[in-house]
Amino acid sequence: MKPVFVLIALTSMLTTYAAQFKALIVDGQNNHDYRYITPHMKKVLEETGLFTVDVATSPAAKSPDLKSYRPKFEDYNVVISNYNGESWSDETKAAFEKYVRDGGGFVCVHAADNSFPEWPAYNEMIGLGGWGGRNEKSGPMLRLRDGKWEPDTTPKAGGHHGRQHPFLMTTRAPEHPIMQGLPAKWMHAKDELYDSLRGPAKDITILASAKSAKETGGTGEDEPMLFARSFGKGRVFHTALGHNGGPDITAQQCVGFIVTLQRGTEWAASGKVTQKVPADFPTEEAVSMRSAAK
Ligand code: ZN
Repeated sequence: MKPVFVLIALTSMLTTYAAQFKALIVDGQNNHDYRYITPHMKKVLEETGLFTVDVATSPAAKSPDLKSYRPKFEDYNVVISNYNGESWSDETKAAFEKYVRDGGGFVCVHAADNSFPEWPAYNEMIGLGGWGGRNEKSGPMLRLRDGKWEPDTTPKAGGHHGRQHPFLMTTRAPEHPIMQGLPAKWMHAKDELYDSLRGPAKDITILASAKSAKETGGTGEDEPMLFARSFGKGRVFHTALGHNGGPDITAQQCVGFIVTLQRGTEWAASGKVTQKVPADFPTEEAVSMRSAAK
């Protein structure tokens, strides 16, 4: 074969195997060390073969350069936030809001739901958030009563967690594309179990919850852990899971975290989930872990 034909053949192969979706992870400020979790999330998303993943790291806290931080959200199918820091510029916030409203996907991971307490559209997107001064003025908590998630307007701070421990996740929306085929209950690896999150909480599908036990410093309530909602034409997947303490990323090495992140990101990008549930998914009895990114 002449070189030109080899080149054409190679190009068509690459086209065939090119990832379907472009994903962007935003990070740069977080009370968690994002340098350990961003590469891990990039790796597990790329392992699906569905995504190419870029990273847009913001300037550090208190840098005047944050004003010019303006990721090109509109170039991507899905944006994953690993950002919990200072407010972005009005222009960047408006661009992000327009991106999601126009049909872009958004995945909010763990402390990203602590961000932007003063940004109404962001709170609407994430549904529920914590810390940052959030309280009853931010909206209700959601409480499971007789099988339904009811708003609870009791005055108290939004966002808290007890001691870290492995905990049982309960699927609440088995028919949702993200949850189809996952077990009804599965053990999540040691993590912070966020409780008392508050927000506009409108039109949220609670995909899975976990009982926040009083013995570990929790509320004694079922707390929403994975949720999904729309914002304009866009889709938002929110996982409250995924704490890390520096290089200890145990919670994100949980196969349950990995698989729900992979599936939630595909759903946010496209509205569908084509991935099969892997054989190493955790069970009701046992946590299942994968090794960290190299
Ligand atoms: Zn955390």
